Amino acid sequence: MNTEDTIAADKAHLWHPFTQHKEWCAPEHDPLIIVSAEGALLRDSEGRDYIDGNSSIWTNLHGHRHPRIDAAVRAQLEQAAHTSFLGFTHPLAAELARDLVALFPPNTLSRVFFSDDGSTAIEVALKMAAQFWQQSGQPKRTRFVAFSGAYHGDTMGASSLGGIPAFHDRFSAWQFPVQRAGSLQELKGMDSSALAAVVIEPLIQGAAGMRLWPKGMLAELRDWCDAEGVLLILDEVMTGFGRTGTMFACEQEKVIPDFIALAKGLTGGYLPLAATLTTERVFAAFLGGSERTLYYGHSYTANALGCAAALASLAIFREEEVLDQLQRKIALLDRLLANLARRPRVIDVRQCGFIAGIEVGWNAGEPFAAGQLAGAKVCVAARRHGLLTRPIRDTIALMLPYCVTESQIRRAVDALTRAIDEACPS
Ligand code: PLP
Repeated sequence: MNTEDTIAADKAHLWHPFTQHKEWCAPEHDPLIIVSAEGALLRDSEGRDYIDGNSSIWTNLHGHRHPRIDAAVRAQLEQAAHTSFLGFTHPLAAELARDLVALFPPNTLSRVFFSDDGSTAIEVALKMAAQFWQQSGQPKRTRFVAFSGAYHGDTMGASSLGGIPAFHDRFSAWQFPVQRAGSLQELKGMDSSALAAVVIEPLIQGAAGMRLWPKGMLAELRDWCDAEGVLLILDEVMTGFGRTGTMFACEQEKVIPDFIALAKGLTGGYLPLAATLTTERVFAAFLGGSERTLYYGHSYTANALGCAAALASLAIFREEEVLDQLQRKIALLDRLLANLARRPRVIDVRQCGFIAGIEVGWNAGEPFAAGQLAGAKVCVAARRHGLLTRPIRDTIALMLPYCVTESQIRRAVDALTRAIDEACPS
């Protein structure tokens, strides 16, 4: 299909996520059509290149069309694209489970349950935690705690945990009740006797606008959970696989959770695959008669192509010193953002490893009116300067693939600087 036919068919038949279609389908709106990608660049149907400024919605790690991941997926296609994981197994799933477990200290997170995406990885953790207490003699532990501003996905269970009013409030009548904590202090004031688990995005809340937790908070939360006998579920869907500068965010505070949810970067950003890891303690509670079984699963569980991509991605981490190389890029980004922070309409810059959020407004504590759509306008302007990313209201997310070169990092921040200067009201 050429550009014109693609746009016509799209506007006639498609429904995009998080999108107001009155605007999308308006005759004057020209959707950008991405037709190919290589490394940190995306190419549109008119042959223009852009830096992939949000790693294709926080998924891509080593770049697009990485030869090693491409080859692994192709090789698996010669065997089978997908076979049922219900009642059977396959070598790549077993190998990937072993490799994932090896990323954590011995005898900690030793069991892997595969699903499809970030939301389902969270659903699995919730159901495992709920059933764990039923089968561990504490059936009254039924409630989950999530934090204000939390985002854990859009399926009903995961979105019950969500604390972003614009996304979540409308569905509150259908969601299970969650105890909401605004801070660790508030959580500590709760009666913990009926709590099953606390769910948190460690170090940084993504969809809330790249909000950083205070240093030490995660370790303190783990201690509190241990003292109160409450399970801890870490949502590392965004932070996992190096984004914060370490393989997992929880390493930075030496925390081992009871569950960790992984998705997005698991396959290097190639295919939808997720994993929920847990401990032998949790696993053991599910052993026994059929009534102890976890009745949960999806058709594409442990998809072989996804496993092949994930194994190749982990091999790239091991063999191409990805995390070592990333430290220099994190430091460069830090320096460049320190300059950007001095622009008049930049009111805050928040960085956690290779994740950044740049907030625009009149002055600190004085945001633009929501109707001004400043964040969206900055992203439209950035596109003219060769950078694609998305705003979270007036915070612009900058999350580059790890393969990005130093000159591309400079270009990305330069594009953002110009876009902010052009698009923000003066
Ligand atoms: N958890 C976190 C922290 C996320 O950032 C996201 C998505 O952005 C999800 C869960 C949901 O993942 P998915 O969109 O793959 O369902």
